[in-house]
Formats: sequence, structure tokens, C-alpha cells
Amino acid sequence: MRRLPLAAAALATAVLSALVTSPAASAAAPVPRAPAGLPAAVDDLAAYEGATTCADVQPGTRELRDLLLTTYGRQVIGTHRACPVGAAVDSEHHEGRALDWMLDAGDPTDAATARTFLDWLLADDAANARRLGVMYVIWDGRVWKSYRAAQGWQPYAGPNPHTDHVHVSLSRRGAAAETSWWTGRTDPAEAHWVALGGTRSALGDPVAGGPRFAGASARRYENGTVLWTRDTQARAVWGAIGAAYVQRGLASAVGLPVTDEFGVPGGRANHFQRGSVYWSPRTGAHEVHGAIRDAWAARGWESGRLGFPTSDERTVGGVRRSDFQGGYVTWSAGRGVSVHTG
Ligand SMILES: [Zn+2]
Repeated sequence: MRRLPLAAAALATAVLSALVTSPAASAAAPVPRAPAGLPAAVDDLAAYEGATTCADVQPGTRELRDLLLTTYGRQVIGTHRACPVGAAVDSEHHEGRALDWMLDAGDPTDAATARTFLDWLLADDAANARRLGVMYVIWDGRVWKSYRAAQGWQPYAGPNPHTDHVHVSLSRRGAAAETSWWTGRTDPAEAHWVALGGTRSALGDPVAGGPRFAGASARRYENGTVLWTRDTQARAVWGAIGAAYVQRGLASAVGLPVTDEFGVPGGRANHFQRGSVYWSPRTGAHEVHGAIRDAWAARGWESGRLGFPTSDERTVGGVRRSDFQGGYVTWSAGRGVSVHTG
């Protein structure tokens, strides 16, 4: 070690003891404490997913707000913004995927706090932004976009310069609290399984092998399957619906799942890209899709006169047909949909 002149050494000691003994005001702002069990790998950078629906504040948004409050104290953090009436949904705030952290860029302490957090977020190729599912951040006239990460911070051209708050928008995975910060898993399908309850979920424990699905990554569990694409996110099928979907190859008719299984009066259901599978104890699990599903949905789904489906759609006498508890529905290119009840 290079020898310091005596005066400089004394000064260094004085500065050091000042750092050690002075109150927190002059200390650097803290950074969020990483949860135990984070994998070494990080999640992919979030793609751009604009807001399309109105929704309440989502779990990952709430968790991130709590993480900021825990780390930095009681600053005001807003998450919810009501959807515009008669206007387009145009903000992740409307979809419950954004928060505003009220800091003043003109206040040195606030500015240092924001800088410390944002440096932490974007260090190491944006490792923590990836782990949290941050899609973009706006602060003090600049914006960082995960989907333009190579450009780094860019001037922000929007009407509000964001000098009074840090805006954070999350990806759908991040907002679902299904990124590795929250689940300890970087694989989206596996993270969804963790979020559903892992080994205690309806899916049970992981198993090897299982069928492949075109364009989707799939993970098999004892009692079901989680399928993931960027468009559909990670969604699960299980139980009788999952068995029908996988064993009868229903993906060709209805596509990939866009919901997990959910309860309906008298049974269970899953929605898919182009159709649905409905199950009840008496009817078993059957798919309904296309124009026949539209007609069935228009008549009240399983709660209407047709009730639950009792067959998959198939060709009977030259027309497409689905049977239901209360009748049947046919479709042909020439005649369109006919509903037969009673
Ligand atoms: Zn905002």
C-alpha cells in the first residue's frame, strides 16, 4: 500500500470516521435486498406489451411498491389509475402494471435515491430489471426501455417530463409476480407453476417427457401441463380438462390456453386461443370452438338452455356439429349456424 503523507492520512481517517458515525442522511441510499434462493441466471429482457385492458393493481405491481416502501421508507407510491370512460386504454396504469414513485428531481436527497435505485436496477446488463420484469422506466426527462436496452437511457419526449416521479411499467409476467425475483425461476412455465403453488398446486410435482406443442414451451407435471408463449403467457391445464386437451390433441381445434382452469356453476372450464373446454361431472370434458362456440356463448354458455357440451365438434351428415345437454348446434359454410334445443 502506498504511504500517505501524515496530513492526508489524518484527513482520510477523519472522513472515514465521519462516514461511519454520521447519521443516515449522508450515507448512500440503500438498494432492495435480494430474496433468498435467486438463481444465477436472469430472465429475458421484457418485450413491449402495451396496455389493452382495464384491470386492478396486479400482484407484481403491489409487491414492487412494497419492496420500494420497505427499502426507502414512506414515500408516496401510486399504482392505480381508473380507466378512461369512452377513451382508449393507453397506460399500463389502467392495466394495473405501473407505479409512480413520487420523488422530486430538484431535491438532492430524492435525486440521489432515484439514481441509486435506477443504477441498481440497470447494473449488470439490467439484471434486476430482468428479474422484476421492468418494461420501461421514466425519470427526469429520460426513459429506459427493456425492449431497446442496447440504447440505454434516451431523452423522453412525452408531455410530462417526470421530474416529480419515477414511472415504472412492468411486463405481464412482472405484473403477475412470475419473474425470477418473486418465484426463483427464470423459465416462464416453471415460474407459473411456482406461482400456482408448486408441488401443492393442482398440477403436482414435475415429471419428465410429455408431448410437444408447436410454437410453445411446455412443462409436464403429474396432473397437468403449463404452456408458454410470449402472446399467451404461461397458462396451465390440469385434471380432466388437461387430460382431454393433451390426450385427444385438442390444441389443433382450440389452440393454446389463455386462462388457467377456472370454476363455473356446476363444473370447470379453460379458455383457449380459438375455443374452450368445459367439464362437468356428468358430461366429462369437451371442446367447443368457432361459430358454434359463439352461438353457445350468446345463449349464456353452460348456464343457458344448451348447458354443458357432451361432445367435441365433429362432422355429422356433411355439417359440423357439437352436442350439448339441452340440444345441438350445427354449422356449415352454406347455411351458417343452426341451434336446436328441446
Ligand atoms: Zn406513471
